[in-house]
Amino acid sequence: MAKTRYIFVTGGVLSSLGKGIAAASIGNILESYGFHIRFLKLDPYLNVDPGTMSPFQHGEVFVTDDGAETDLDLGHYERFTTTLASQKSNWTAGRIYEKVIQKERRGDYLGKTVQVIPHVTDEIKAAVFEVGKNADAVLVEIGGTVGDIESLPFLEAIRQIGLETDEEQVLYIHLTLVPFVKTAGELKTKPTQHSVKALQEIGIQPDILLCRTETPLPAEIKKKIALFANLREEAVVSAVDVDMIYEIPLIYKKEGLGAIILKKLKLRGRKDDSQAWGNWIRRAKGLSAEVRIAIIGKYVRHSDAYKSLYEALFHAGVANRVRVILERIDSDSLAGGDLSGQFRGVHAILVPGGFGIRGIEGMIRAAEFARVHGIPYFGICLGMQVCTIEFARNVLGLRDAHSAEFDPHSSQRVFLKLHELKNVDTLGHNMRLGAYSCILKKNSLAFRVYQEEKISERHRHRFEFNPEFEYMLENKGMRVSGKNPERNLVEIVELADHPWFLGCQFHPEFKSRPLQPHPLFVSFVGCAKRGRA
Ligand code: GLN
Repeated sequence: MAKTRYIFVTGGVLSSLGKGIAAASIGNILESYGFHIRFLKLDPYLNVDPGTMSPFQHGEVFVTDDGAETDLDLGHYERFTTTLASQKSNWTAGRIYEKVIQKERRGDYLGKTVQVIPHVTDEIKAAVFEVGKNADAVLVEIGGTVGDIESLPFLEAIRQIGLETDEEQVLYIHLTLVPFVKTAGELKTKPTQHSVKALQEIGIQPDILLCRTETPLPAEIKKKIALFANLREEAVVSAVDVDMIYEIPLIYKKEGLGAIILKKLKLRGRKDDSQAWGNWIRRAKGLSAEVRIAIIGKYVRHSDAYKSLYEALFHAGVANRVRVILERIDSDSLAGGDLSGQFRGVHAILVPGGFGIRGIEGMIRAAEFARVHGIPYFGICLGMQVCTIEFARNVLGLRDAHSAEFDPHSSQRVFLKLHELKNVDTLGHNMRLGAYSCILKKNSLAFRVYQEEKISERHRHRFEFNPEFEYMLENKGMRVSGKNPERNLVEIVELADHPWFLGCQFHPEFKSRPLQPHPLFVSFVGCAKRGRA
């Protein structure tokens, strides 16, 4: 096998320039040339992983098949390519330090003084090389902005990798901003110059500059940036603002980014095929019909908190040739009063995952509204708890029905902590994380949707359906249509007597991609579309 190539993506000037999407797009381009790629995200913060960070602060926690709780950029990597992320794909400074300190306590360093260089940087390099095994190329995104104190060990480690490998094995791509300053009527290159200088001071000469800009950079601006950055002009690439993130790989390719990456890495593409992606973009841009879907959550004001969910709905919309318009409703606002005004013009209701009691009663009322009015309802994890509580209270007449998460003293707990379930081996974990298989009952909505009996989906939750209520619920029309075969855990509930009503314990949104939209979302949006009138 040829030597693995390492492409490092750093960011300058300011955060939120879309480094994750830039890295994902470069991955997409390399796959279009037929290369087998992998991703790695290095995050300079000290949390060991984002699992305990608030969605308000950090956005969604993306979950991999092997149960890693990771940065949401890994979601972009998976959606833009055919890769699968894993525990190896996201390292934070906290996780690196944890490893170093464990080794120190074990005495592995044989009495030496443990230092950032070489001990911390060696662990960072090991993480990079580990992902590089059996891949043509690894895309390594460094979180944060060049100039931050905490990113220094990471930049030092990737600098060293450049020295330890062959010249054509390593590429440094730096994403910067070239702002248009209205009062001067000019594009300004100074922030980019400063940011490149900061990188050079650390010892990294960028090979390619990706310049975020509102309009394509004129030749003279490229020339100026190239001169100051010590680069040829062809290595300064415009990264123009777009309406739809999925267009970015095609735009970069048109700007010549693919060709220059191949040239610098001395690679020859095995093919050049962006056709399927291009066709999908054309379809996605040509949507005219609309469906309105209400999302009832408590993080609705933060667009990153449900990132994968919004993308999955978009993919499903394209599959159904409709634009999905999201009505983001704060669940607290549904706690009282008549809901018909709030849901006027809404074709479907979705209650996504979440933690904590805030807003629960509003979500329960939304599930009731959907059930009673025959509006498609999709409950994801917390949304499954909510619709089960609602059904138990209002159809079974169990007035005290609740989840142990919200009322541990309720006499009718339809959801329990994993370890409270009888006859279930909890394996010592208190959170179910990552992929679990699920067997679907024939003659169910779930089976019709998936068209297969055994599926696998990703989980991230502490509470589980209480099987003591299974018989009672089924008797009144809430069917259990999917179970985990190993531990007999209930994974899906649905209503037979309803156009589309399903709650699942897992998070299907993590597995939706543009070219492989998730069947549950496709079916849900399809039903919403049919219900428009
Ligand atoms: N809070 C619930 C639990 O821990 C649901 C979590 C989720 O929606 N991912 O079980």
